[in-house]
This record gives sequence, C-alpha cells and structure tokens, in this order.
Amino acid sequence: MILLNPKRYAPEHLDEASAELMQKTIAFFEAKGKVRLKKDDRERVWYADFLDFVAREKIFAKLLTPAAYGGGDPTVRWDTWRNCEFSEITAFYALHYWYTWQVTILGLGPIWMGTNEAAKKKAAEALKAGGIFAFGLSERAHGADLYSTEMRLQPNRDGTWTANGSKYYIGNANEAAMVSTFAKTTDTGAFVFIAADPRQKGYELVQNVVNVQSYVAEYRLHDYRVTDADILSMGDDAWDSSLNTVNVGKFNLGWASIGISTHAFYEALHHAENRVLYGKHVTEFPHVRQLLVDAYCRLVAMKAFSRRASDYMRTASAEDRRYLLFNPMVKMKVTTQGEQVIDLLWDVIAAKGFEKDTYFEIATRDIRALPKLEGTVHVNMALVVKFMRNYFFNPGKFPEIPSVMEPRNDDFLFRQGPTKGLGKIQFHDFRIAYGKVALPTVSVFKQQIGVLEEFLVASASDPDTAAKQGKDIDFLLSLGEVFTLVAYGQLLLEYRELHPEDLPDDLLEQIFDFMVRDFSKFALQLYSKPSSTPRQMELCQRMIMKPPTDAARFERVWAEVHALSDAYEMSP
Ligand SMILES: Cc1cc2nc3c(=O)[nH]c(=O)nc-3n(C[C@H](O)[C@H](O)[C@H](O)COP(=O)(O)OP(=O)(O)OC[C@H]3O[C@@H](n4cnc5c(N)ncnc54)[C@H](O)[C@@H]3O)c2cc1C
Repeated sequence: MILLNPKRYAPEHLDEASAELMQKTIAFFEAKGKVRLKKDDRERVWYADFLDFVAREKIFAKLLTPAAYGGGDPTVRWDTWRNCEFSEITAFYALHYWYTWQVTILGLGPIWMGTNEAAKKKAAEALKAGGIFAFGLSERAHGADLYSTEMRLQPNRDGTWTANGSKYYIGNANEAAMVSTFAKTTDTGAFVFIAADPRQKGYELVQNVVNVQSYVAEYRLHDYRVTDADILSMGDDAWDSSLNTVNVGKFNLGWASIGISTHAFYEALHHAENRVLYGKHVTEFPHVRQLLVDAYCRLVAMKAFSRRASDYMRTASAEDRRYLLFNPMVKMKVTTQGEQVIDLLWDVIAAKGFEKDTYFEIATRDIRALPKLEGTVHVNMALVVKFMRNYFFNPGKFPEIPSVMEPRNDDFLFRQGPTKGLGKIQFHDFRIAYGKVALPTVSVFKQQIGVLEEFLVASASDPDTAAKQGKDIDFLLSLGEVFTLVAYGQLLLEYRELHPEDLPDDLLEQIFDFMVRDFSKFALQLYSKPSSTPRQMELCQRMIMKPPTDAARFERVWAEVHALSDAYEMSP
C-alpha cells in the first residue's frame, strides 16, 4: 500500500542509513505518545525534545547539507526523495514538528544558493551542532508583494552596512543559527539577502505572532551591523534565490498535507468502524462508505502525484524546467485536496473530531495552513496558468523521466538560475500518458479534456474576449482549476505506469471517478463566470459528464479501505 503506516513501516525504497533516520523519527514520536503530543500542542510547548533528538541524531545535518559540504560522508546530501519522506512523517505526527524543519529548509535556501562560501561552511557547522534556520522574507504590510520590501541595508564608509527594518511571520527566528533576511540596499535599491544572527546586538525578537507550539516571529533589526561576511547574495541573484528557495520549500507543503491526511484517515476510519448506531457499524452506512472511499482515493492520488512530481524535481535542469508546473501543483492542488480529505473525514468522525485527545482535532486546524503558506493558492494558480498555452498547443520532446529514488544529491535545486521566461517552458505531450490507458472512467475524463481543448481553441479565436479574460484573474483561476486537473491526471497515469502495484485498475478507476466529478464541477464554475461567452458556456455544459457506474468495483475498493480499519493507532 502506498500510504504511510508507521506501525508497518518498511522503507525498502530508502538506503539503509536513510531508512534508519526515518525509523528513529517514527520511534521518537511513538515513544512520546499521543497523550504527551496533544498536551504539548494544547499548552504550546516549544518542541525542545524534538530538536534535541534531531541534534543528537544529526538529522537536519544529514538531510539538509548538500553533499559538497558534507565532508565526504555519503549519508550527508540534499536528496528530495528522502526529504519528502521526512516531511510526511513529521506532519503525520503534528504540523509544528514539520514546520521547524520546513523553515530550516527555507532559511538554508539563500545560503546554499548564494556565493558566500564562508557562510555555507558556517551553516554546515551549525547544522552539525543541531542548529535550526529561518527565512525572513515576509513583512507585515506587504504579503506576497516582495517588490515593496521595506527592510533596508545602508552602506557605511568603512565598507560595512547597517540594516534597519522588521520582518513578520518568520518561523524559527527565535532560535535560528542564521536568519536569511531579504532586504533592499538604500544606495542602488538592489535586493539583497543577509544572514542575521538573533544573538547579535541590534536584533530584537518582538513577539510570536501565532498561538501555537511553533515560534512564528516578528523581529526587528535596529542599526544592525552587517559585514560582507553576512551578505549571501545581491541584485538579481538575491531576487532569484528568494523565488528559487520558495520553489524548493513549497514542494514540502504537499507532503505535509499528505502526512496530516493519512493520520486523520486512520483515526476517522477506526472510529467509524468501532461505533455502533441503531445496531450497525457506522461503516455500514452507504454514504459513509462513499465518503471514506472518496477520502482514500483523493489521498492515494495526492501521494502518487507528488511522488511523480518529485521525479521531475530531481531530474530538472536549465533545459528541462517542467518541474515549475508540477511543483506549484504539489503546493496548491495537493494541499487543497488535503483540505477536502479532512472535510470528507470530518463528516464521518463528526463530534469525535473535536475531542482534545484526538489527532483529528489538530488536523482540522493545521490542514488549513498549507494552502496559505508560501504563496496562496491564487498566487500559485496564477503561476500555473502561464504554462497552459504551451502545455496544450506546443509540446516539446524530452527523454522519458524514470522514477528517481536513488540516493543522490539534487544539485540543480541550488542553481536553478533566473526565474524568468516561464511562458517559454515546454512540456512533453500529455496525450502520451492518456493514450496508454483505455479504462472506462479514464476514457470519460479524456472526453472532457477533448471538450476543454475545443474551449481553448474557441476562446483564442475571439481575440477581444481573450484579451479581456486574460486580465480577469477570477476567470483565469477557474480555468486554471480545469487545466490543473489535466496535468494531475497525467502524472497519476505516469506514476501508475512506473508503479502498477500502487494503482491497480480498480483504484485508478475509482480515482478517476472523482476526477470526472471534479472536472464537471469546475466546468460549471467556469460556465457561471460573469465574462463567459455563449460559446464558452455551451462548451462548459458539454464538459459536464457523469462517471460510469460500477457498483462491483466500488465494493472492491471499499473492501480495501475497510481492511485498514485497525491498521494504525498512535501509541498512547
Ligand atoms: C504560520 C505562518 C508561518 C509563516 N512562516 C513564514 C516564514 O517562515 N517566512 C516568511 O517569509 N513568511 C512566512 N509566512 C508568510 C506566508 O508565506 C504569507 O503569509 C503567505 O505567502 C500569504 O501572504 P499573505 O497572507 O500576506 O497574503 P497577501 O499577500 O496579503 O494576499 C492577500 C490576497 O491577495 C491575493 N494575491 C496576492 N498576490 C496575488 C497575485 N500575484 N495573484 C493572485 N492573487 C494574489 C492572495 O491570494 C490573497 O487572497 C508565514 C505565515 C504564516 C501564517
């Protein structure tokens, strides 16, 4: 089974040393137990026990130091495959533990991407000593608008600099070894990344802006002295490393969503199976079965898609930037699917989901964060829409990408280069993956795609409307939802070709059952947009289709779900 089950964790897909790190992490949380985990959450206890464990086992040092700075130790490397696994495991237990790891990844981004060798060595040493890191990009007033950054770096006559300004929403900025801080110079207005030190004079930790275990800081720099040794990058390089760091980091949001949803799934299913109403198990209600099968299928699809997207991350190069489509999809599509999984499960677990001793209670809170962090769903959808034209109408030729699980350092992630030219990126033809599968529900989905293509051609043939709709983000966001479904299905089919055992026919068809329904839903939304034309509305109506009914298949998938009723319960 593709889903994580800590009680039967068998990481055959990892090398021995990495498997041991994951097993130790699971053992740490199971030994901590659910009672303590929930108490710490409720009482907002800083996770020093987890950070001590991470330091003792050198986990961040091994997972987050690029091989070139690992002193020849083969267990030290930046390996996206195993980092996904660690993200999933930590969020499976609670998002806070994942968050301190996540913002460490972000904080390290501008350091590893910069040109300051001394800073890189310092970071590697700090990681070895158990240090955590922080990424100071956001400011209170500016949100996604990085151009308006107000943190200032003023040059001094003696060659040093003075920083002034404040940052807001910055995780780990209370204890980080280095706080990568994005600023603008006062003389040329160039963007710059500096590494600030919370222990140095002029660094004021103002407050924790959230009410949870994590420390999400507001900090201020007051006449904070900066030397060349603290400058990580300047000008276009600094700008690119801010966006390229987010490219690396936002991928993990999907994995956190998978971890949370998986734990919540086991808990909700177990509860429903053991609750008897009117003399029947709750799992005997047909609508509960439908909710659980839908939740399971969405969850399996989240993981299969994200694994396939990881292959594109790991094989990316300056010539193959397809990851720039699939990566934001892991961020916004997978995390919003996670929200849907929790919504479906909440209708099953009902009141129990509010109880203080359940994992579910924190899942309902934390699952909401992931679509909103590191660029909202809208920002990522606006990005994805830029790829639509080439995706549908101008495919390129690429060698086939295999499944990339082997232990190796992902060098390209730290030299992604300029962030421009998105509209020119090409993709291989999505029809290749769809052309290989002729199952009934997948075939209906392919018909929907056919009508979408007609829609896009018809829209382009009316230049005035196309120009207006091209500026209407509300319209584009709905169109983006339909487009995203096509690419989601494509990678699911590619994953299945590489790992047929994870997505057998029944499960794949049941997944495409919700995909067809989602396509119809988004087509209706597009139909209802104020600017849709009569021709577009007609085509939207034609996109609305019903998945073929197959009761026997549904029962078989239900049996697979039902068999998981007692699969996992966290140690008390
Ligand atoms: C718990 C938590 C932890 C965080 N940790 C960090 C951290 O460690 N480091 C850090 O730097 N930041 C961090 N952040 C900040 C986070 O990344 C931003 O909050 C997030 O990107 C969203 O920004 P915002 O809420 O300010 O939304 P805004 O940018 O204010 O957006 C407002 C609205 O405008 C829309 N919008 C904005 N721009 C566009 C666009 N171009 N296209 C379409 N729609 C758009 C948005 O979708 C949204 O609906 C954290 C935030 C939280 C809540």
